[in-house]
Amino acid sequence: MKIRVLGCYGGQLLGFHLTSFLVNDTVLLDAGSPTEILTLEEQGNIEHIFLSHTHLDHIKDIAFLADNRSLKRWGGKPEASAITIHSLQENLDTLSEHFLNNIVWPDFTKIPTKKDGILKMNSFKAEEVIEVDGLKVTPIRVEHPVPCTGFLLDQDGAQMIFTADTGHTDRIWEVANAQPNLRALIMDCSFPNNCEELADISGHLTPKGMAQELKKLDRLGEIPIYLYHMKPEVLTEMASEVEAEGIPHLRMLTQVDELIIEA
Ligand SMILES: [Zn+2]
Ligand SMILES: [Zn+2]
Repeated sequence: MKIRVLGCYGGQLLGFHLTSFLVNDTVLLDAGSPTEILTLEEQGNIEHIFLSHTHLDHIKDIAFLADNRSLKRWGGKPEASAITIHSLQENLDTLSEHFLNNIVWPDFTKIPTKKDGILKMNSFKAEEVIEVDGLKVTPIRVEHPVPCTGFLLDQDGAQMIFTADTGHTDRIWEVANAQPNLRALIMDCSFPNNCEELADISGHLTPKGMAQELKKLDRLGEIPIYLYHMKPEVLTEMASEVEAEGIPHLRMLTQVDELIIEA
């Protein structure tokens, strides 16, 4: 399994992009930044978006992906396939009512035709396994002010976990500990330690909170852990706080990372 970081930050500044990971060229985990990073040709390979939740920093580029794909179809390429958005039903409803509502942005589930839209929606239930192109994806509920799931990815006997946006939580650590061959973990670390209260009310973690959460991981120190969703304007401060925790095989993701997850 190949995971390319398109964006790993919890804020947008020049050179820092919002949450989105490209898995095996065809699957997106969240869609905060794909049209800022991928060429039109690379965007054309995307078939699935697994959406953790509906905060704008995770859905923004659904709008522009759909728009770019739609132009391709109008331009005489009817084979340009649909993109399926997989998420909790309540998140799909939020997208329809508040984002792709023909007011904020066109409803691309009905463009170019009602029967054959550019976007398709597939609702999942927490802990239901969805298989696409040999990749098994399991959504796991996490703690955030809106309905949110992290994801367990499993391919060819190797697993990785993306916690998505979350504060202190339990179930995803139980799932992590139950995996036979967990090879990597990407987790929330959004605010510096002096913003602990803000982190708590907004459903995120600080370096201190992240270190507390990791005590729940049995194989801490054995598998690589990557932090994401840092606020770029306080990145330097956060980097020294993360370092001070002294956790082995742990680092902040960067804009250019590509992870290869093998059994
Ligand atoms: Zn969020
Ligand atoms: Zn976010």
